[in-house]
Amino acid sequence: MLFATLAAGEGLDVLNPATQQRIATVKAYSTEEIARLIEAADAARGAWAARTAKERSVVLRRWYDLVMSHQEDLAALVTAESGKPLAEARGEVAYGAAFIEWFAEEGKRAYGDTIPTFANGKRVLTIRQGVGTCAAITPWNFPVAMITRKVAPALAAGCAMVVKPAEATPLSALALETLAHEAGVPAEVFRVVPTDDPAGVGTLFCTHPQVRKLSFTGSTRVGQLLMEQAAANVTRLSLELGGNAPFIVFDDADLDAAVDGLMASKFRNAGQTCVCANRILVQDSVHDAFLAKVQERVAALVVGDGAQPGTTIGPLINEAAVKKVGALVADACEAGARVLAGGGKSPVGTGFFEPTILADVTPDMAVASAEIFGPVVPVIRFADEPQAIRIANDTPYGLAAYFYARDVGRIWRVMEALEYGMVGVNDGIISTEVAPFGGIKHSGLGREGSRHGLDEYLELKYCLMGGI
Ligand code: NAD
Repeated sequence: MLFATLAAGEGLDVLNPATQQRIATVKAYSTEEIARLIEAADAARGAWAARTAKERSVVLRRWYDLVMSHQEDLAALVTAESGKPLAEARGEVAYGAAFIEWFAEEGKRAYGDTIPTFANGKRVLTIRQGVGTCAAITPWNFPVAMITRKVAPALAAGCAMVVKPAEATPLSALALETLAHEAGVPAEVFRVVPTDDPAGVGTLFCTHPQVRKLSFTGSTRVGQLLMEQAAANVTRLSLELGGNAPFIVFDDADLDAAVDGLMASKFRNAGQTCVCANRILVQDSVHDAFLAKVQERVAALVVGDGAQPGTTIGPLINEAAVKKVGALVADACEAGARVLAGGGKSPVGTGFFEPTILADVTPDMAVASAEIFGPVVPVIRFADEPQAIRIANDTPYGLAAYFYARDVGRIWRVMEALEYGMVGVNDGIISTEVAPFGGIKHSGLGREGSRHGLDEYLELKYCLMGGI
């Protein structure tokens, strides 16, 4: 395998979630080693920042080309360590690479302003400069894209970046690092540091005086912990946290389109995405027809090892995840939900959960208020538009929301009323490098992708020139 050397090292075993077999052991960095790498990154950063934006762009573009020319190898790694079906892994590599391509260009547009002066003899202007040395902590569910969304804008802005990948998925991260160095990113300027001490490294990132910015994607619980710790050093933070996406089907919706959207949004990565439909709200008059169509489609899903052709639902990341999803389903059933499909562990193997549909779910059940992170469709009935909006917004989360409707007035009203960072209208897949991705409330701070994604790594400096 092309990336065979990545597996060198001692400390962190990487398991294939489909088979529970160990596929590699990688070096686990200590906090002392990582502190030294932060200091080396900070020392090397000046020379990287001193290159022109166009020179950095050329290097980033080469990195993009290398990632795309290794798409198959990278996809195989993603599937092996995260479990997602190979077709999805290929899609993730292309999606992740698109952020590198985007920010290679966007870095050239870190414009400042000249501001009409307030006094004769003075001139007012702003310039934008990289924030400095950055750190990132990423999750296992998109082991490529969650890294490129942070590293590409940081490098484009002239920053250095040290990334701690999730313990479950260090291989994709190390492969990205290898390709970036091959493309010409100086080794000290971008480091990937797997560790078996995530809490210790989180504290180091928050408190090391040379880390000026920390970008985190993961659970709300850990995001809150990092926010508390970052106060000590007033470290800038971007937080991409958990979600509890409502998926609303109104009575004027195109039901077939809504079913397509739900299947795409809900079952990608076996339901383990932060923007997954988590609560399906269906209006009374279309409830039964919609559910019948969803049942038909769910019956056609194929659970299995993501490396096998034809698999559409891979394993969950580990057995603890299977237990957690099982407990949410059991709790809902005890409280009166009806199982229309699946309902428990899959006979395929210990790490797999059956695609599940639950009818008669109520908003107070845990399955509707917690982030499920599994292939479960909990369906809640509603009577009218105000009730749907009330239920949809009744959550501390605010990442993604979806709804299907055709009435233009309703589309505007609901789009504006949903308290979310992202709204999909008549579409179940919203992620793209050209648009700002991010949440409000307990779903986080800041945006990734688009021109706003570059701002996260830039400081705005105001300069007043007198004596003119
Ligand atoms: P997690 O918070 O447990 O882990 C995420 C990362 O944080 C991992 O690298 C982990 O090692 C690290 N970590 C764990 N404890 C830590 C600590 N005390 N200090 C510092 N770092 C620590 O989350 P997870 O289970 O790996 O990922 C799933 C979560 O991520 C879900 O809540 C999901 O919604 C969220 N997510 C959000 C987005 C987004 O863009 N908003 C994208 C993907 C995933």
